[in-house]
Amino acid sequence: MFDKILIANRGEIALRVLRACKELGIATVAVHSTADADAMHVRLADESVCIGPPQSKDSYLNVPALLAACEITGADAVHPGYGFLSENARFAEILDDHNLHFIGPKAEHIRLMGDKIEAKKTAKRLGIPVVPGSDGAVGPDDDAMSIAKEIGFPVLVKAAAGGGGRGMKVAHTADDLALAISTAGNEAKAAFGDASVYLEKYLQKPRHIEIQVLGDGRGGAIHLGERDCSLQRRHQKVWEESPSPVISPEARARIGGICAKAMQEMQYLGVGTIEFLYEDGEFYFIEMNTRIQVEHPVTEMITGIDLVLEQIRIAAGGDLPVTQDEITLNGHAIECRVNAENPVTFRPSPGKISRYHPPGGLGIRIDSAVYQGYTIPPYYDSLVGKLIVHGKTRGECLMRLRRALDEMVVDGIETTLPLFRALVREPSIIDGDYHIHWLEQYLASGDPAA
Ligand code: ADP
Repeated sequence: MFDKILIANRGEIALRVLRACKELGIATVAVHSTADADAMHVRLADESVCIGPPQSKDSYLNVPALLAACEITGADAVHPGYGFLSENARFAEILDDHNLHFIGPKAEHIRLMGDKIEAKKTAKRLGIPVVPGSDGAVGPDDDAMSIAKEIGFPVLVKAAAGGGGRGMKVAHTADDLALAISTAGNEAKAAFGDASVYLEKYLQKPRHIEIQVLGDGRGGAIHLGERDCSLQRRHQKVWEESPSPVISPEARARIGGICAKAMQEMQYLGVGTIEFLYEDGEFYFIEMNTRIQVEHPVTEMITGIDLVLEQIRIAAGGDLPVTQDEITLNGHAIECRVNAENPVTFRPSPGKISRYHPPGGLGIRIDSAVYQGYTIPPYYDSLVGKLIVHGKTRGECLMRLRRALDEMVVDGIETTLPLFRALVREPSIIDGDYHIHWLEQYLASGDPAA
């Protein structure tokens, strides 16, 4: 096992990793920018190192500063959390060159899945169903039009290096195609330094269903069921739940089995998420994330498996905690991502939290790094915290969620709590009857959270 882990992240995920380390008896090193000197993860870690000024590129993405912090503190492993350097294959290799463990998959797998075109080809080869589309990158001058006509409009132009919903444009008709390709390409070039784009059939009312996998890197791999992340705004997840209201045990076993088998074949190491769109009973692979995800707690709540703790154990050479047959899904869990944003315009609202009261009681979990008097800095994401609720049934879970949302107080800044209070009372949400465009349509139809 590792002796000391440096957590190369901030906010709630840094705290989440720190908690797992404490339970495992591993010493922790927090790193922070000058803007995060007062952060909770810094206060609770055994040691802390300031790695630079507020801007992420100078601090949380500053590889030489992170290496120096490992050297100074004697850390033997690095947990990257999510975002920042978590899906940077080069970072994993650099750590390896310095005899430091990267807590994550093999660099080759991070690189493979980071290129969406290669990822899709790999998925296809491993027997995972994919969205119909171009076999590789397309340019404005080649046969993009004939491929698009073959797929059928509307088509989605997607960036090979895409992430966070950027570099994606819909072409509703043949007339839109050239513009969609150039806009998506330019956006991708600016955001990721790579302008390659590919085409996919644009699904009209799919759900976003993702499968959590866990591999030991030696050919052993299991799946832990699905998460339904269909409630999104601008391709960003807002609410996640498990199990999905629309996936039957048979469908889960089928797609989960395909994913686990693919991971066994790849000899995948650590936690990963295989994302699908799901429409008319069919799954279509869109991408794989080779890291812990924001929404991992809903899976933990229904499986009882601590994913971050297992991720660390497995990175240190440990075995999978359970066999596929030993996994039972217990009850229902929902996560709400409470952001420091105006609930109607979604404009970020950083600032000081003057009053804070997290809800409590049976089945309630808060993963957050804020506290009363804490100032949310303007430099990073606007997550205040995740409210995760568990119940024996979806109905009980919604009942508890309604109560917990009403109890939660975050004053001094604007938050998306009013949106969740409205959502949890919406008939379509209560019935589980929604798809990936539902939330945007709902938001466009009035002023629900006002
Ligand atoms: P990113 O890496 O930017 O998050 P994804 O490929 O995971 O990109 O897609 C993000 C979201 O975009 C999906 O959850 C879905 O809402 C939408 N999306 C992606 N591909 C399609 C498609 N072929 N048809 C319709 N919507 C899509």
